[in-house]
Amino acid sequence: MAAKLRPFGTQIFASLSIRYATLSKSENSETEKHDTQFKKGRLAMAIFGSCLCGEIKFQITGPMMEPFHCHCSRCRKQHGAAFRSRVRVKTIDLHWVHGEDKLKYYKSSPGFHRGFCNNCGSPIVNFAERLGEFGVPLGILDDDPEVKPQFHIFVGNKAPWFEIADDLPQHEELPWPRRE
Ligand SMILES: [Zn+2]
Ligand SMILES: [Zn+2]
Repeated sequence: MAAKLRPFGTQIFASLSIRYATLSKSENSETEKHDTQFKKGRLAMAIFGSCLCGEIKFQITGPMMEPFHCHCSRCRKQHGAAFRSRVRVKTIDLHWVHGEDKLKYYKSSPGFHRGFCNNCGSPIVNFAERLGEFGVPLGILDDDPEVKPQFHIFVGNKAPWFEIADDLPQHEELPWPRRE
């Protein structure tokens, strides 16, 4: 209970200290495995994100993993766009600054929840129950995450009116066994 009475800033700095103390070691084998596999994980610092109306704001204090573009029809509808660009973030690394009560989820498939601001409709975080992690759209970040999408997935479902113009690897579906 005492922790709840501490100022918000104190909690953030305490959290950051813990992260820096532990991330230099092999804190999490799952994270390490993916970081090694994709070479794209990094320790984010003071990366903020917010929705269009500003009611929801959050900070990410941990690695941003597996940045990619998803062309599946569900992501296209969620974003109203040609594809969804996102990173994977551990739930303990995402801190709500304010507006968590405005976050609503739509369950688009069993165990998969797509979060949005119930005031302005911006996509916020998606949550996969089996992973216990968030997918965060790069488009709602207010700071440069210093990671860039490394490949495209579900290009088999790509919008017919959009042509991929970069040289990133393209995967027809998921490039790994389904996890959600
Ligand atoms: Zn909003
Ligand atoms: Zn998708």
